[in-house]
Amino acid sequence: MSFFESYDPKFASFVLGNAPVKQIATGFDWVEGPVWFGDAGVLLFSDIPNNRIMRWTPGEGTTTYREPSNYANGHTRDRQGRLVSCEHGGRRVTRTEWDGSITVIADSYEGKRLNSPNDVVVKSDGSIWFTDPHYGIMTNYEGYQAEQELPCQVYRVDPDNGSIEVVLTDFACPNGLAFSPDENRLYVADTGAMFDADAERHIRVFDVDGDGGLRGGEVFHVVTPGASDGFRSDSDGNIWTSAGDGVHCVNPAGELMGKILVPELVSNVCFGGRAKHRLFITATTSVYSIVLNRRGVQEP
Ligand code: MG
Repeated sequence: MSFFESYDPKFASFVLGNAPVKQIATGFDWVEGPVWFGDAGVLLFSDIPNNRIMRWTPGEGTTTYREPSNYANGHTRDRQGRLVSCEHGGRRVTRTEWDGSITVIADSYEGKRLNSPNDVVVKSDGSIWFTDPHYGIMTNYEGYQAEQELPCQVYRVDPDNGSIEVVLTDFACPNGLAFSPDENRLYVADTGAMFDADAERHIRVFDVDGDGGLRGGEVFHVVTPGASDGFRSDSDGNIWTSAGDGVHCVNPAGELMGKILVPELVSNVCFGGRAKHRLFITATTSVYSIVLNRRGVQEP
């Protein structure tokens, strides 16, 4: 069988015919939020229902990095290399400092608690952008069931004074997000309200002004089957997103170029490995990886 489906001749140069989609860890309940630490050669990812963050290395396999994790979901690294995490249970975004202590970056807006921060990205100016859908407080499976106090919005944390502002409001449930390599574009997925089977599931694209303001917001790509829970950009601005049948590669014009077929439902991806050419894929009970002829850009 092939690991790929191609919809654009260029996609053939993105994948290596003899590089497998390989399961590197399994036995979890719902994994998400992969992030690569190149300096340590370590992949971290969340096993959300089991309330833990896992750590994987090529030599040592999988161990537990943090338990309990406050039902952590998405992670990234900031420009100083520190871990930045979304916590459903804590209903907050945190930063893990170099000494291991945890700093709260955001847990409320205008006196109301956040819902359940889902995914996060740090821009090169140090600003922290995160999505806050309600998935983590709707049931007790991936957090603690609770009343929703705020709409499902996208926030930006100022790098200088730590203030939090709402940057996007017109989403059912914002989820994955990423900047283009030049940071002139911000992509944000909408995966629809929980328990809404007819929800629109797509990625939208915004132009980013020099001062961080957003314009536009048209639908960039409709993900089908499934939804764009999480994604990363490669160095040419192609988006590698979760979908119902694997990972989809979408070019900057919003066109599907090809698919990596994965045997479990994919939640999120990140680039890592020696040349940032290895795509790590979190998918339901397992983590998969595949070496590509591509290079990721998001984390430092
Ligand atoms: Mg997500």
